[in-house]
Amino acid sequence: MTTVGILGGGQLARMLALSGAPLGLRFLVMDTAPDACAGQFVPMVVGDYRDEAALAEFASRVDVATFDFENVPAESAQWLSERVPVFPNPRALGVAQDRLAEKTLFRKLGIPVPDFADIATRAGLDEAVAKIGLPCILKTRRLGYDGKGQFRIKSAADVDAAWQSLGAQAQTVGLILEAFVPFERELSVVAVRGRDGEFRAWPLTENWHVDGVLSASLAPAEADAGLAETALEYARKLADALDYVGVFALELFCRAGQLLANELAPRVHNSGHWTIEGAETSQFENHLRAVLGLPLGDTRMLGHACMLNWVGELPNAAPVLREPGGHWHDYGKSPRAGRKVGHATLRADNAAALAGALQRIGDALARGAQTAPVIRSLQA
Ligand code: ATP
Ligand code: MG
Ligand code: MG
Repeated sequence: MTTVGILGGGQLARMLALSGAPLGLRFLVMDTAPDACAGQFVPMVVGDYRDEAALAEFASRVDVATFDFENVPAESAQWLSERVPVFPNPRALGVAQDRLAEKTLFRKLGIPVPDFADIATRAGLDEAVAKIGLPCILKTRRLGYDGKGQFRIKSAADVDAAWQSLGAQAQTVGLILEAFVPFERELSVVAVRGRDGEFRAWPLTENWHVDGVLSASLAPAEADAGLAETALEYARKLADALDYVGVFALELFCRAGQLLANELAPRVHNSGHWTIEGAETSQFENHLRAVLGLPLGDTRMLGHACMLNWVGELPNAAPVLREPGGHWHDYGKSPRAGRKVGHATLRADNAAALAGALQRIGDALARGAQTAPVIRSLQA
């Protein structure tokens, strides 16, 4: 019996465990929060990731370890990797945890990125704003997620407020200034690389964010073959350079037919949740296959799929469940503003049928603002 250890016990760990059950796998999660949602049906070690005793207990009970949470301290990942196989490797995790290291690597590999600068002081911020231009975004280098730790600088008058909001973190987690990209679309490549270097990717996905949080994903994204090919090539280059094992997502901005890389998520990704019902093999199953050194599953998709994120609280499930291709995911979390508490996936054989289902769901749940951009993309 193989036990897979997962650092972080959120919905990603929960969906990994669900997908691993048919493979005969056991799971153990570790989380700092005793009420982490994967812990509702997976054994859990509760403890801080820096607590050696808790980590040692976790290590002693698992055969291989992976992550649901990308901000596990690099030293803890390293410590663990000296005792049990850890995938992705701590170096890859470390690069993906630091927006500066990540963008520097993208550039070195010939993957285009928005202009960026490391920011250490207030004077440095002024200099970088002058060089990069307005608008731009100040972000923490580490620990940001769901758009947290970011400040948009629209005009020179915002620089003071940006520094007031994030300046204190220049000496702790570090800061980076990025050019604001007036993108037409956001895309992501969700891909998997096996222990033997085999690489597979799911069809390119289009994503919509609201207040920095993913709202909807659509696959396949409407894109010409050349663009999709380029996106996959970037993902493959990155995975090879990091000797990455497991699933990851590369977030991209598309502007005037050109791709710019935003960030690398070193784990299964929200924009890949549609693969559970929409693809031959889900991102969760393929992540497990990769970290266990098993053959990777086919990533082809069946028709068209859209994922709608439920943020803050769950709406009524019935309109989704009534749809022939409707699937409901309740993470078992208590409602809280800004919190991802569940999602729905709608699958259909063609774009028109998917647009119809989204229209009905948007109307029934008063979520037209969430479904409208997806419907527009399907009708384009
Ligand atoms: P995630 O939850 O995806 O890990 P995060 O907190 O790491 O989010 P980013 O992905 O950097 O944050 O930014 C969140 C969203 O904010 C992006 O998906 C995009 O919509 C917008 N955004 C971020 N950086 C830029 C940029 N340079 N130009 C334009 N929009 C941006
Ligand atoms: Mg991120
Ligand atoms: Mg992101």
